[in-house]
Amino acid sequence: MTLPTAQTPIAGWGRYNPVVCSCVRPERSNALAAFLETNGEPLVARGLGRSYGDASVNQEGLVVDFTRMNRIRAFDPETGVLECEGGVSLADILTVFVPRGFFLPVTPGTKYVTVAGAIANDVHGKNHHCDGSFAQFVDSIELWTPARGVLTCSPTENADIFWATAGGVGLTGVILTARLRLLSIDSAYVRVDYQRCANLDATLDAMAASDQYYRYSVAWVDCLAQNASLGRSVLMRGNHTLANTLPESKASTPYRLPRRPGLTIPVDFPGCVLNHYSVKAFNTLFYAKNRDARDVVVDYDKYFYPLDGIHQWNRMYGRKGFIQYQATFPLESREGLVKLLERLAGSGRASFLAVLKCFGAASPGLLSHPMPGYTLTLDIPNGLGLTAFVASLDRLLLEYGGRLYLAKDALARPEAIEAMYPNLKTFREIRAKLDPNRLLASNLSRRLRLDG
Ligand SMILES: Cc1cc2nc3c(=O)[nH]c(=O)nc-3n(C[C@H](O)[C@H](O)[C@H](O)COP(=O)(O)OP(=O)(O)OC[C@H]3O[C@@H](n4cnc5c(N)ncnc54)[C@H](O)[C@@H]3O)c2cc1C
Repeated sequence: MTLPTAQTPIAGWGRYNPVVCSCVRPERSNALAAFLETNGEPLVARGLGRSYGDASVNQEGLVVDFTRMNRIRAFDPETGVLECEGGVSLADILTVFVPRGFFLPVTPGTKYVTVAGAIANDVHGKNHHCDGSFAQFVDSIELWTPARGVLTCSPTENADIFWATAGGVGLTGVILTARLRLLSIDSAYVRVDYQRCANLDATLDAMAASDQYYRYSVAWVDCLAQNASLGRSVLMRGNHTLANTLPESKASTPYRLPRRPGLTIPVDFPGCVLNHYSVKAFNTLFYAKNRDARDVVVDYDKYFYPLDGIHQWNRMYGRKGFIQYQATFPLESREGLVKLLERLAGSGRASFLAVLKCFGAASPGLLSHPMPGYTLTLDIPNGLGLTAFVASLDRLLLEYGGRLYLAKDALARPEAIEAMYPNLKTFREIRAKLDPNRLLASNLSRRLRLDG
């Protein structure tokens, strides 16, 4: 069976290198099943396209847009287990379940992500140091595979396929449905402590000393500060709030969010708007404005998703787009992190966003990104010499035993990824059995030669 196909320019969220792809957009599970059984073209599934690079782009075949496969199938309020189609967004889950007292067990920095996309990148949140990554809260999935049809996979059934799919960037099969364990909460609010840290050591020491007291922890880093101030930051750590400790104005409606007008970036900004000087001015202001403060009650939208309030904020980087560079260093490699920040600050390239988190234990996901260590995320505008600059960062990362995140990557070389992910060989073996004719493929899988 065929589905209507549209030729559409597609890119990752960084809008770096858009390409025209053939897209299908199934709506019904029986039509999708019939299509998958008869289709002979290489395909990649796509969620809300929030991966920054080319993970859900496929120039040489089809892109299967999953956003209409978004039905909630069942929910058990006793256990918090939600069963839904892969295209349900985290935003939908929050809208429906926060008023019922449930939150996501792990959430990335945007809620405009699908459940299947979150599994395929095994996404992490501000709570990785204590809770781990998204797939660790998935009880089971239904996965369509080219060679073996639909399989139920879980940590106990087809466990090898389950952990190859968690972080497997859509290359083991198409995630049709998932059963996800939600987190019980007492209100829609988080109690946040803000702390300014004068440099990188102060930031990392503060994180290490107190992460056990906070479920959520993240540092905004001034990536243009240098010398003694290198890595200065504002640390924002918090926990969910009990309804009976909320201020009076919020206590009677603990799950209700304040109304906030949404902003939209209507056009591409000129490429010059975000430059070294404008980012430096912003960073200086941000650091000065955020004084130490304790117990600030903040709603979940503001704490977890500050950028979601500005729709299409990726247009701020202009037509040429940007890349997001996420580098994770092992705990013992602070020096690597220092060198990376020095290289960025000295390069004259401005990263509007620079965020630092601490990762806890790795999940069993074969290609899951997190490993114990520090993860630094940078947005770097596309400009002259970007590829060479990023290659120099990759070399540094490799030298210190670090790794890149496939959800963010747009420029890495296959050899680098091969060295960073020791389980890639096992992943390839599992994938070869599920998809011997390589029907699942993306620009990312070809660029990084994930098939070997
Ligand atoms: C502002 C912002 C903040 C972010 N913060 C974080 C963060 O804190 N932590 C983090 O980990 N990530 C973060 N991300 C990245 C984002 O969470 C991941 O890239 C996520 O996987 C995107 O999901 P998506 O639904 O948009 O899927 P897409 O980006 O469209 O696809 C992602 C992957 O999922 C696969 N996929 C999609 N649907 C299916 C399916 N049905 N079956 C099989 N495979 C499928 C695709 O093939 C692709 O490999 C952030 C992104 C943005 C834009």
